[in-house]
This record gives sequence, C-alpha cells and structure tokens, in this order.
Amino acid sequence: MSPQISPPSPPFIAARNKGGRQKPKAIVMHATVSSDDKGTARNIANWWAGKTSPMSSAHYVRDAGELIQCVGDHTVAFHCGYNQDSIGYELCDEQKGPASRWQDKDSTAIIREAAKDVARICLAYDIEPIRPTIAALKAKGPHGIYGHDDSRQAFGGTTHTDPRDFPWPMFMRLVRREVKRLKALHAQTAPTVKPQRLHLMQSSMLYSLSLKKKEEDLEVIFARAARRAVAAVGGTEYPDDASRALLKKVAGSYGYRVFHNDGRDDVWLAIEKDFIKGKATTEWDLVVGMDEGYGKKGPRGLLQVHLEDSEIGPVTLAEAHLLTRGQMREKTGLNDRFTQVIGRAARKNGAGKRLFFYMGDQNIIDRTNDTFLGAPLTSSWDELEKWENTGHGNIDVIASYDKDGRVSAAYCRALDDGELHLHGDHFLVESGFDVKG
Ligand SMILES: [Zn+2]
Repeated sequence: MSPQISPPSPPFIAARNKGGRQKPKAIVMHATVSSDDKGTARNIANWWAGKTSPMSSAHYVRDAGELIQCVGDHTVAFHCGYNQDSIGYELCDEQKGPASRWQDKDSTAIIREAAKDVARICLAYDIEPIRPTIAALKAKGPHGIYGHDDSRQAFGGTTHTDPRDFPWPMFMRLVRREVKRLKALHAQTAPTVKPQRLHLMQSSMLYSLSLKKKEEDLEVIFARAARRAVAAVGGTEYPDDASRALLKKVAGSYGYRVFHNDGRDDVWLAIEKDFIKGKATTEWDLVVGMDEGYGKKGPRGLLQVHLEDSEIGPVTLAEAHLLTRGQMREKTGLNDRFTQVIGRAARKNGAGKRLFFYMGDQNIIDRTNDTFLGAPLTSSWDELEKWENTGHGNIDVIASYDKDGRVSAAYCRALDDGELHLHGDHFLVESGFDVKG
C-alpha cells in the first residue's frame, strides 16, 4: 500500500461469500441492475451479508447517497469470472433504458463520487488510471480500470456485459483529474519528518508449563523487548492468577505495564511504560463464552488497550487467540465471529488519525489463508510477502489496519529455538512498522 494516500473508508457490511488473499492490481467496474436511489447500496450489501446471498460479492457498492464496503481490499470478492487481484466496484444502475440515463441527477452524482473513490484506490495500490484494451488485459493480466464486460472478453468465465452504456471517456477523465488533484494536495501537505519506527512482539505462551519455566520464558522475552525498545508485547494462555502475577512481576521489572481483562480469558498485553503518556484504557469484547464448549482455557475475546503516544498520537493495541482448526470444524462460524469483532474494532479505533495494531495467535496458517477471514487487516507476513514458521506453522501474526495510510511494515520475523530458546511451543514473533507523522 502506498504510505501516502489511503483507500476509501466507508461503512463496512461484510459479505458472506468471498475468497482468499489478493494484492489489488486492477479495478473492475460493474452495474448492479437495480435502482440508483439512496439506500440501494446498503440493501445490496445487506443481501450479500445475509443467509440468502448468492455466491457473489464486490468490494464496494455505491448509490446516489453513499458508498458501502463489503469485502476488504486484500481479500478476493466474487464479482466476475476472473476475480484474483482486482477490486470489484458496483455502481447502482438499472441497466435498462436509454444511455442518457447515466446523465440524470442521481447517476451524475454516482459517477462523480465513484471517480473520487476509484482515484483513491488507484493511488493507494499504485494502479495506473488507464482503461486497458482487451488485448492488453489478455497479455498482462488484470491492471488499470475496466468493466465486467471487458473482463468477460479478456478472461471469460462470465456472461455479464455490465456496466452497459457507461460513459467511460467522461469517467476516466474524472478519475485522472482526481488522481492529479490528490497528488498535488499530498505534495503540499506531505510531512517531512522521518517516520517513527514502532516495534511490537507477539508471544503465544504455553498454558501447561510450570511456573518456573514460565518465569524463565518471560525473563528471556522481556529482556529482549527492553533491549530493543519494543513498545508492546502481546500474548496468550495466561488465564490464571498465578501466571498473571508472574507476568506482572517480570514485565514490571523491565518497565512494562500489563493489561488484561479481569475474567478468565487468556490474552494479555504488556506495554512499555514510557509509551503510555496519558491515560490507558482497556476494552474487552467477549466472542466465545465458556458455555460454548471451548472455555477450557477461559472464554475467548478481543483485548484492546487505547492510549495516546506523544509522537504517533492515539493508538489502539489489540490481542486475541482464535480457535484451533479442530474446534472450527466442530463449530464452524466461531472464528468468523471473532474476525468480525476484530474488523469492527479496527475500523472504529483505526479511523482518521488513530492507529490500530493487532497481535494474535490466529490458529490458521497465514501463508496460505486470509487469517482475518475478510476483516480489513493485513499481517506483516502478507505485507512483506515473507512467511516464517511461528512454531505450529505460520499461525502467529502482527498486523495493521488496511486503511492506515501512515503505516507500513518494515520487518517481521519469528525467532526459532536456535535464535531464542523458549520452553513454550510457539516462537517469539516480532514486527516493526514505519509510522509517518
Ligand atoms: Zn458485473
């Protein structure tokens, strides 16, 4: 993602059907075959989110009143025959009547606003604001901005010919004008200060270790964290008083303050005291209760700590421990519920100038899956396209919110037993982010 200009950040209604990970390289324009009245985009998004949704979805849908996002930009949506690496953008239009319908008041508003959205997407992902020919699409694969009908002719797999009668020359002119405007605006306001480097660690612990071995692991982890000026360490599997007391003692001796929910959930965050300038507040959202059968190690939920750093501003740090695949098979949908809560938290607490970072044990291999199941976060592994074994495959992640245009991953690594010996069954993961002022 471009560190300068972020993609649109409208209300998000998660579509039920979507695919795996992608890197946006193109924008495919569609028409919904519906009215263009206000409220239609939201109705369509709710339909895609519901139980009766067909096997279709798009990233964005716009009517005359608003834009709704339904699938994260880094997740494949099912909008044409060949979907990989493209953003699907739906314009509300009936697809019948004279071509001049695109010039009525509502359609004009839709086209103007869509051009602004598309320009932002282009700049965020380095997509050239051109409409490639069918031959160019066949030769180079998805790139630029084109229609569902162009996709059909270049890649097949669909019979759709939308957006019919679309005024492409006018639309492309508006997109290019907006790209130019945003670039000029950014050049004037671009910060000249050096980006701040923020270091984070994820430490999935082992529930069953003796207190002595836990203490040894904590010493190794926090000695390293303090030496490297790590702002926060997130971790799991400390649901009991004895483990938490030990954690507070060791973390405290290295200058870290520990946050957890007072209940029996197993996640925690240890934050460097110097990083917490004013007040820090804790928030915990229950996702899977004890009564749902997976409470052996406590209920599961999302832990968030909101704080204000004097250099990078308001920051939320979050930690969660998703269910293992075996548990997912028995009770499908629980990790979907989990990632929806995480996505909602990221959108809320990462809005505007606020920053949102997440650390967690996903229990899903990040290298081959979207471990956020469509929620708008990207792991540093995915961002840097380098996936390391974190102990049980590539399941522990440190991630940032997709819409944080100020944030980019600088490094990510897992320290195996040869590099950092721990008694636990996971390796320590560390990632750094560059944060622009
Ligand atoms: Zn279409």
